[in-house]
Amino acid sequence: MLNPQIQAPSPSPAPLPGPWSAPRAEAASPAPLLRVENLTVRYGKRGRREAPAAARDVSFSVSRGETFGLVGESGSGKSSTALSVARLIEPEKGRIFLGDLEISALRGKALRAARPRFQMIFQDPASSLNPRERALAIVAEPMLLSRQYSKGEIGDRARALMTRVGLPVSSLSLFPFEFSGGQRQRLAIARALSTNPELLILDEPVSALDAAIQAQILNLLADLQESLGVTGLFISHDLAVIQRATRRVAVMRRGSLIELAPTPLLFEGPAHPYTWALLAASLPKGSRRDSLRKAFLPRAPHEGPATFGGCDYLECPLREEPLCLKAPPLARAREGHFARCHKAAEARDLGARALARNGEGPALASQVA
Ligand code: SF4
Repeated sequence: MLNPQIQAPSPSPAPLPGPWSAPRAEAASPAPLLRVENLTVRYGKRGRREAPAAARDVSFSVSRGETFGLVGESGSGKSSTALSVARLIEPEKGRIFLGDLEISALRGKALRAARPRFQMIFQDPASSLNPRERALAIVAEPMLLSRQYSKGEIGDRARALMTRVGLPVSSLSLFPFEFSGGQRQRLAIARALSTNPELLILDEPVSALDAAIQAQILNLLADLQESLGVTGLFISHDLAVIQRATRRVAVMRRGSLIELAPTPLLFEGPAHPYTWALLAASLPKGSRRDSLRKAFLPRAPHEGPATFGGCDYLECPLREEPLCLKAPPLARAREGHFARCHKAAEARDLGARALARNGEGPALASQVA
């Protein structure tokens, strides 16, 4: 619900002053804007032992203008990957490029100079926005730090950004607590966009919102991406949100990237048994969910020294030894679709057969709850 004290502006947004009056010319270019190569993130030690890697050897690229999703359960490594890309945590290994610039190698002044090019939006705007600052100071801060705008430009851009994200210009004088949850996220979006970034890193940006407000914020993000040509790295545990917000998606499990595909292909038929299990858990109650759950129900984990070094999905219902004692590479399952599984074709067939038992086709896209 909108905070009734804040009157929303008219739906037709004013053009932003500066370079966003039109989408970036390079937005349609297929060249990757973001490249993540062999990223490993580890958080200190557990007792005398090294903690397990939060993200392990993660590689992917995102084209200019594309929104790429990272999906997985809590602890899968998706947020650690996002925080590394945002340069908010230091990875143990790996390289991150924004265009030709290796941002993972930047420190101090050079990193501060590059920061306006990539901005992050967090899950909970209530804790990511300074409660003691008014909206104008919040939106203006990244522009002031970037030293790229005059005082007059900062004011003009702040007003235009508020309108662009669906907030009245008059709300620039309010504190964050005077906004509703959805409005605070709009304010966070305005702040993130203020420096005209090429890349937005969105870490669970709608998870703290109720369903109706989620839809409004997702629509706003889609509109902004189309009109501004901004590239997105979208993190979520929610398959329905990922399905709606992204063009390509990677599934993460225990720090590893296990599947990568164009979003419609992933929802039509995953090639990894774990993704099928995730998908089954997201379906509404009914026979489809029941048959997929039966087919991909995780088993009691296989134990013993023989499992070391191989595929670590020990609960996999398709596990077969000695085949799965060898670590599977991220291999091509079909055009643009990759999975880290020795039995990817079998997993797709099993899923298709489970769905066919209900007399239905494989397209799951509209079914995810
Ligand atoms: S490699 Fe083997 S254990 Fe791992 S997901 Fe594939 S079938 Fe299951």
